[in-house]
Amino acid sequence: NKKNFPKGTIKYILSYVNQSLNESLDGEIQAFLIDEDQLHTYDDLTKVNPVTQTTVLKCLQARYSMKVFYTHAGCTLVALNPFQPIPDLYSLDVMKEYHCAPQPQEFKPHIFIVAEEAYRNLQGQMEPVNQSLVVSGESGAGKTWTSRCLMKYYATVAASSSVVKSQDTVDRIERRVLDSNPIMEAFGNACTLRNNNSSRFGKYIQLQLDRSQLLVGASVQTYLLEKTRVACQPAKERNFHIFYQMMKGATDEQRKEWRMPKDQQFVWLPNHLISFWCNVLQILAGILQFGNVNFSSADESQPCNIEEAAGLLGVPVDELLACLRVRTLKAGKQSVLKPCSQSECSVRRDCLAKLIYAQLFEWLVTFINNSICADNSIWCNFIGLLDVYGFECFPVNNLEQLCINYANEKLQQHFVAHYLRAQQEEYVSEGLEWSFVKYQDNQNCLDLIEGSPTSIFSLLNEECRLNRVSDAKKFRGRLEKELCDNANISWDKYSQEAHFTVAHYAGKVNYQIDGMMEKNKDPVPRELIALLQKSENPLLHQIFADKDTENAKSKGLSKVTVVSKFKNSLESLMKILHTTTPHYTRCIKPNPDCKPLTFQKEEVIIQLKACGIVETIHISAAGFPIRIPFKSFIQRYGLISKSSAFKTDSLRPAVDKLLRVVLQSQVLDPACQRDSETHSTLVHCGRTKVFLTQSMLELLEDQRKKV
Ligand code: ATP
Ligand code: MG
Repeated sequence: NKKNFPKGTIKYILSYVNQSLNESLDGEIQAFLIDEDQLHTYDDLTKVNPVTQTTVLKCLQARYSMKVFYTHAGCTLVALNPFQPIPDLYSLDVMKEYHCAPQPQEFKPHIFIVAEEAYRNLQGQMEPVNQSLVVSGESGAGKTWTSRCLMKYYATVAASSSVVKSQDTVDRIERRVLDSNPIMEAFGNACTLRNNNSSRFGKYIQLQLDRSQLLVGASVQTYLLEKTRVACQPAKERNFHIFYQMMKGATDEQRKEWRMPKDQQFVWLPNHLISFWCNVLQILAGILQFGNVNFSSADESQPCNIEEAAGLLGVPVDELLACLRVRTLKAGKQSVLKPCSQSECSVRRDCLAKLIYAQLFEWLVTFINNSICADNSIWCNFIGLLDVYGFECFPVNNLEQLCINYANEKLQQHFVAHYLRAQQEEYVSEGLEWSFVKYQDNQNCLDLIEGSPTSIFSLLNEECRLNRVSDAKKFRGRLEKELCDNANISWDKYSQEAHFTVAHYAGKVNYQIDGMMEKNKDPVPRELIALLQKSENPLLHQIFADKDTENAKSKGLSKVTVVSKFKNSLESLMKILHTTTPHYTRCIKPNPDCKPLTFQKEEVIIQLKACGIVETIHISAAGFPIRIPFKSFIQRYGLISKSSAFKTDSLRPAVDKLLRVVLQSQVLDPACQRDSETHSTLVHCGRTKVFLTQSMLELLEDQRKKV
């Protein structure tokens, strides 16, 4: 109670502040605790006092205005997007500086510190643990940019010129690894309302290193390509870059080959402005022509562009038309042919285009992997870079957003489990009293989405298995009935719309049910696959050739749905992540319009909340990040108090004595006086280890130097 202290004393101010902080996080009050002029100098948010949403925000804002874009937040790095190239921030010299520094952590915060730390973790250990660099953030925050910086860093520092091997080979593999990036981005990225170069797939790249820490190869795993974009682009958004690039780069001969006169407009290329393999380009041209095939007329005549599309895809035009216009239904051993309605024809057309594009993308990834992946006998460790789509919340959200947000929930859980829970559990196992920091455990939300026996995914899959015409309203009813016990799902009682709302760790998202079940089934008519297998385009033929065996294998088994496939691939990813040491970078988008050097508080605060930054800082700051076993502690600092205990049972008293000596020597310093009264703010002794704050470590090192 502030009334108990005379005005002007430190205690008065602190109690006043503590009280007021609960009421208001803003205002002049914080001037007592953090020097506003110095805010930009805080390299680590754990040093800001007090750590609140507002102080963290102010600090980041101050740094941003000084063009400082990286800040540590304990174990995480926060990266603010400048939305303009910053000269020399990622130059070769800067890379060398961080790489060669004895203690890179002492340099200004930078993504290269994270890169170097992961790299050094692999050095000089008998059995190093593989490393993962997880880059997260919302669309446009800078994940892909950051991943690219990391790849360039390793391609540079892991390719020292003192290599014994042929420099030629090493150079080529680095180049190839880096070159795979723009190719994948061409096929997997698109211009969206949020980001001109938005990744429409998730990506986990493993950079393979040999015993001498040199980059010898890489492998790529991709997740959930947004293939619907091929046939349907949201308003004011674009198709995948590759289509525009091929149109821009096409020679006159190629245009002739693709039956594309210069002025031809494509429905699937909105905002049309804009080479590599002939076959790939032919397939892409075929897909584009296909988009112009219109089934609006009721007559039986051949629709426009169908001939061009069939020619480019290398299939007979009459068979292509038949596949689109007639459905083959299996009734026992017999096949029944059923004509399709106009809209069904269009659905089949889109389905074929999406199928071809998705398979082409998969083929491309395999092709890239074949050309960059090192032989198992060569590489021994890897550094994994994870660049996955961030949390999404649009005016209308469907199955894609549900999957993406589910992936983000999984990653958040991994983060929480790894850092927060592991830290707290260690305190407890060491017998320390720890006032648990409250953090959001998202298990309940994950149970809601993927749990068994009943969850959104299980109900969606059941609906697909029943193989009946999906009814969105009925499905809403089922969700309401089966999942009403889970607090993370809700419905707008006044809306009859088929929807549900999920409370994700990053915020509430309203999902539309219409279309969700169909997307989950992702039906691919067999006759379409059979048709593509006949293709005269050698690549298309090859891509679909083995689909037959796949079909045969899955005969009688239930078809794998989109959510099941996604869940499985995510689970394998999580398994890999769990075996590695993770390093987290949180990218923040400072404004929604991608404007250079523009910081909008409201935008940033939402993202800080979404990634639990404040909780992370609390744990890192209030916690004791440095842990030294008693024996090592006495070995290093024993001389300060002239302690030299070697017997296990005398270690603890020796540690206590040492700490008393160090803390008492600080009594005259007013800043430390408070701490010495409750020395638990600086140091704690567990059962086997001493737990220290960074400032206590500095104090000990100072004292050690003086002795
Ligand atoms: P999405 O989820 O949509 O794929 P993302 O998080 O991968 O988004 P990026 O494509 O990496 O976002 O970044 C968006 C844009 O922001 C980049 O094209 C680039 O112009 C700019 N940008 C990001 N980081 C930086 C940086 N460190 N310096 C300069 N510009 C940057
Ligand atoms: Mg991206």
